[in-house]
Parts: sequence; structure tokens; C-alpha cells
Amino acid sequence: MEKVLLKLKVILNFLLEIILPSKCLGCKKRQEILCSDCLDRIDKAERETEKDILALYDYRNPIIKDAIWKLKYYHKGIIGQKLGQVLFIEFLEEIYSLKTFNEGSPIYVIPVPISQERKRSRGYNQTEIIAKSFCNQTDKNVLKIKTNIIFKNKNTIPQAKLTNRNKRLKNIKGAFEIKNREEIKNKIIIIIDDVTTTGGTMLEIINLLKKSGAKKVIGFAVAH
Ligand SMILES: [Zn+2]
Repeated sequence: MEKVLLKLKVILNFLLEIILPSKCLGCKKRQEILCSDCLDRIDKAERETEKDILALYDYRNPIIKDAIWKLKYYHKGIIGQKLGQVLFIEFLEEIYSLKTFNEGSPIYVIPVPISQERKRSRGYNQTEIIAKSFCNQTDKNVLKIKTNIIFKNKNTIPQAKLTNRNKRLKNIKGAFEIKNREEIKNKIIIIIDDVTTTGGTMLEIINLLKKSGAKKVIGFAVAH
């Protein structure tokens, strides 16, 4: 029953978007969920937070914080779609250089997974929505989403709730499992996350993929 209600909520939100254009989370004008004027005004994050992890916006900005909160807890898939599009545009140069490096075969895009249990209770994985939209901005031969590689085994404490780096690294250690590893041999992979705090989650996944034979792995986060 709960599952049916969740699905209904998602469908209802989707229909509402068609009938009534969203109010921008920033200026409240009825046009787009995040209009370009407001997006331009959001402070950018320090771009490279860790080696091979790039973040776009400064998470302290209230608009981006609100956007991610609503995407995560209020079934606002439209926000994820917009963020995926923005991520693609802003990181186009990086994608392009990865592409040249990759000669012909698609770059694999892996959204940071949430546990099955959490996915069941929330009804969706918000980073998957971002990643899907990110891939949809271009051809399937360029970016290809892969959700059958990395899985989250345990429900960790949200990284932002832990105060120090060691606790965060310990929290995330062993949380992810890799499957179908033969598919990622010599591949170039982009990991997508909504918010990266210390980069611990992404680093854990990056290392796991590299150990399993991926050629190059980098992480893109919407906010830091
Ligand atoms: Zn606006």
C-alpha cells in the first residue's frame, strides 16, 4: 500500500509539472524549477575538492540546499532533471576530454547508490534521477548510465552528521559492493553524487572501481 502511494505521489508531481509550470526555487517566478538567472547567482564550489572529484555549487547556498532537500524528500524529480542538465553543461569540457581519452566507446555513468531499504522507503534514488538526465543531454554512445555495477549493502549514517574525517571514512568503509565487474574493465567512468561532504563516499567507489579494472574514474557532484 505504501509503495502504491509513493508511486502515486511521483506520478502526481509529474502531472502537476505538465499542467502548471514550476515556480523557481530562487525567485519564485513561474517558469522553471531553477531559472538560469538564479542558477547564475549561486556561488560555485571550490571546483576540485579531492583529486578526481569535481563539485559544482557551494552547498551553503540556501537555494541549492533547498533544491537537494526537496529532490530527496519531496519527490521533486524535476529538480534532479534540471540538476543533471546543469551538471552536463558546466562540466562539458571535462566530459569532452574524457571522451577523447576514451576513443569511441561510451563513458559509463554511475549514480552513487542508496541501500535497497532506503530506496524502498523513498521510492527512488535521487542521484539516479540526476545521472539519467545528465546522460540524456547527449547521445547514448557518449554517456551511458550503469546501475548494475555498484550496490550499497549497509545503511550508513549520513556523512554530514559525522564530525570528523576518520569517522566518515570508517562509516563508509565496506558499504559498497561491486557486481558485474567484467563490464567495467578498461572503461572510463563518471560517478554522480548530489552532495559530497569530504569526498569519502566517492573516493570509496572510485577506489573500488579502479581496483576492479576501470581505466579512469572521476566524480561529479552537484554541491560541496
Ligand atoms: Zn529564479
